[in-house]
Amino acid sequence: MEKSVYQNALEQFDSAVEQLDLDPNVTAMLRYPQRELTVNFPVEMDDGSVQIFTGYRVQHNTLRGPSKGGIRYHPQVDLDEVRALAMWMTWKCAVVDIPYGGAKGGVMCDPKEMSKQELENLTRRYASEISILIGPESDIPAPDVNTNPQIMAWIMDTYSMNKGYSVPAVVTGKPISLGGSLGRNEATGRGVAIVTAQNLKEQGIKEARIAVQGFGNAGYIAALLLEEMGHKIVAVSDSQGGIYNPKGLDIKTTKACKDDKGSVIYNVDQDITRIKSQDALTCGCDVLIPAALEKQITKENASKVQAKLVVEAANGPTTPEADKILEDKGIVVIPDILANAGGVTVSYFEWVQGLQHLFWTEDDVNNKLESIMLRSYKNVLHLANDEDVSLRTAAYMIAIERVAEAAKLRGVYP
Ligand code: NAD
Repeated sequence: MEKSVYQNALEQFDSAVEQLDLDPNVTAMLRYPQRELTVNFPVEMDDGSVQIFTGYRVQHNTLRGPSKGGIRYHPQVDLDEVRALAMWMTWKCAVVDIPYGGAKGGVMCDPKEMSKQELENLTRRYASEISILIGPESDIPAPDVNTNPQIMAWIMDTYSMNKGYSVPAVVTGKPISLGGSLGRNEATGRGVAIVTAQNLKEQGIKEARIAVQGFGNAGYIAALLLEEMGHKIVAVSDSQGGIYNPKGLDIKTTKACKDDKGSVIYNVDQDITRIKSQDALTCGCDVLIPAALEKQITKENASKVQAKLVVEAANGPTTPEADKILEDKGIVVIPDILANAGGVTVSYFEWVQGLQHLFWTEDDVNNKLESIMLRSYKNVLHLANDEDVSLRTAAYMIAIERVAEAAKLRGVYP
């Protein structure tokens, strides 16, 4: 049977733990999510009917601070996936050394089939249901797949209405006018672009051919910034299909097609070939950026990956079996917990700015982000070289050691 996403997350954790000299009691603690909440709740639909939706909020770990993690709306959301995403958030916050634990939320729904009013009703009721866990000092949600600043605004408003006063710091990824941070919307893609560019610079590559699977918040911004840096984006795809042009795609035109008609496939400029969504993973390119969902690079297609560098903008896009195949082929993987940590880093900046009621310029945000991304990337690279392990294992080693140290210092309550 195919392994679940959480089994994959545990396998990654276990193989890093093998490299560390950890107290087994601490290891045992870190393998389990701390809290899991399942909520089944009614939502009034536009036709007057009431539908029951299921949602989750999982806090994997709060040893290093309040838990942090996005909220996903997708038909395939389940507890196992949310658990894995929450665990990855713990390691991600630790690898970039920001004072948070890890959490994640999700609602099983298809937002593409819902009106704006239905989405607002769903969001407000879900926010009320999980309000026993979330809060500016306990657990702070943010956007993930199919959620955005508007949805964060509704969560913030619902939470605030129940409290009786405004609590902007309960979520990040808010609209700027409600206390959002400049640069937050672009932060995940920017972080991906920063580590990709750094790696290419070390290799002396000035004009790489890059393929991006998934053209949403993370994938689009990463593609746009890398194009601006002089690289060629040769392929992009979304859930409807993909496009390929060995001479390089125009990313702004492609985005306009996606915004107007719903998919990148409507960019039919000269020299563009239509490809299947999955073909973006295996097309001719130097760098592959998976920026869609989990389990995209698997033992079935890993041997067909042509890129020499994979930068994981998505969470969990590579299964452990595929990881081994890529490693054997000499393909370097910059792991999700490092590559896409730009989002949570600027979420942290947003939270700090909100708590201080003092807002930074976009340049300030971007400069601070760049320095954290580069520092974290270099730490991971050095450890990987010193210990002769993959970048993923090195990133996990750094993260797990930091969380384990917090566990040791805090002790076991009571
Ligand atoms: P999004 O909803 O903005 O975009 C998702 C994109 O993936 C869409 O273009 C969609 O069409 C595409 N997609 C879905 N299934 C696909 C498939 N089978 N093949 C090709 N494309 C497909 O979501 P996002 O926020 O960009 O998140 C993408 C990934 O990045 C997720 O794994 C998410 O957890 C991760 N991530 C996001 C953030 C953030 O700040 N938004 C931060 C860290 C990690």
